[in-house]
Amino acid sequence: WDGSFGSDDKKRTPLAPRRRQASGVHDAEKVRKQFEQERKARLEVVKLKAEDKQWAAQHGVSGDRGLFQGMIARWRAASVEAPPPPPPASDLRLSVFVRSRPLLPDEVKAGAFDVVTPSNRDVGPLLVVHEPKTMVDLSKAMDNHTYKFDAVFGENASNKRIFETALRPMVKHLFSSRGGHGTCFAYGQTGSGKTVTMEGLGSGASNPENEMGMYAYVAGEVFHHVAEAAARGSPLVVRCGFVEIYRGKCFDLLARKKKIEVMEDERGQQCLVGLHQVELESAEQMLQLLGQSNRTTRATAQNETSSRSHAILQLSVVTPGAQAWSDAELRCKLSLVDLAGSEWAAKAQSDDRNNRLDGAEINKSLLCLKECIRALGAHGTHVPFRGSKLTQVLKDSFVGRGSRTVMIANISPSSLSCDHSLNTLRYAQRVKDWQSAEQTER
Ligand code: ADP
Ligand code: MG
Repeated sequence: WDGSFGSDDKKRTPLAPRRRQASGVHDAEKVRKQFEQERKARLEVVKLKAEDKQWAAQHGVSGDRGLFQGMIARWRAASVEAPPPPPPASDLRLSVFVRSRPLLPDEVKAGAFDVVTPSNRDVGPLLVVHEPKTMVDLSKAMDNHTYKFDAVFGENASNKRIFETALRPMVKHLFSSRGGHGTCFAYGQTGSGKTVTMEGLGSGASNPENEMGMYAYVAGEVFHHVAEAAARGSPLVVRCGFVEIYRGKCFDLLARKKKIEVMEDERGQQCLVGLHQVELESAEQMLQLLGQSNRTTRATAQNETSSRSHAILQLSVVTPGAQAWSDAELRCKLSLVDLAGSEWAAKAQSDDRNNRLDGAEINKSLLCLKECIRALGAHGTHVPFRGSKLTQVLKDSFVGRGSRTVMIANISPSSLSCDHSLNTLRYAQRVKDWQSAEQTER
């Protein structure tokens, strides 16, 4: 695979350096050639437009939608399936993944079409978003944005696959090293699949590997390592806490949403005072506990409160008899974070007071989160975790020993969510400071 990812309608040639004026005959020849080239290019455009129209007619899609879908189909036909990316290096402190979910029947009903092309339907290195554009002369065009991440999960990638690529290496690392903090964030607009990634689709999933999410897979892996440690004669205990952060306040989801104070102790560690932590026997027990918790889960409707709050599931692995708030006996801590819908950040300017307050708080916390993760990736000494309650609660993840962070940016492939998806991808890109794929692939 040569790194090219199909044709691009908007390929531009660099400006040629100015040359001295040639003689008259030479000039005429040059003008003729240029004219000929332009004529060919125009004919090519006409031919392609005809192909787009033909595609639309064949598929019974009329109007602009048909034209855009034709352009995308033509683009996809010319693109090549890329080999899967190598697994991220195991010493990576920060990895960023993107997951594009399938287009939903409701979206198709609303007139949306699929504008996201991952380089593989399962796992690949690249992702292209085809942004439909209407030009000033009302002609239609497509802006193709290419991105590269540690891995991109297409619609066929299951939760199990995501866990194995993105999270299993992290859990393994925490148990094989001297311990540390592992954190996984699910980022994206409401409806992009964050909760499905974290919690799974349950028994209704058409693919059994989507029934469980990261919560269950990570807990299963933790218990696997705990059993191994016990067999070696060093028993460990797993404790579970589940909190929600809404408007800068922290609530205990395992204790009827009791308000929790977040304080720093004399050693600079963050304490969630009065947090109800449950000592777990098994991963199944944890799932039962989460099922009874106060966060209404699965299939988040737009505007529902869970889209305005961050949920953090924390699993602490400690030696038996460790003090509830002591970190001395802590082997490792895993935090799995289902973030508030990223589209809320733009509502900080909303006319509605409630939306404005929620939006401002979410905007602040997501900006601060980005800065904290960037500082972590850059091995920075100053981590601005005090900027929001979310980053304050997760301070250990950013400044603790041996921290590992995974971000899963979720996007919808719908044309109606194109702007939100581009925003999510820009955020994910900035978290890790990649150059765009076009630059790195050359
Ligand atoms: P979010 O938590 O980001 O708001 P959800 O996880 O609630 O989004 O997903 C929104 C909708 O998309 C749900 O109806 C869910 O069933 C569907 N969905 C998300 N991801 C997938 C997937 N991988 N496969 C099938 N349906 C999905
Ligand atoms: Mg959700």
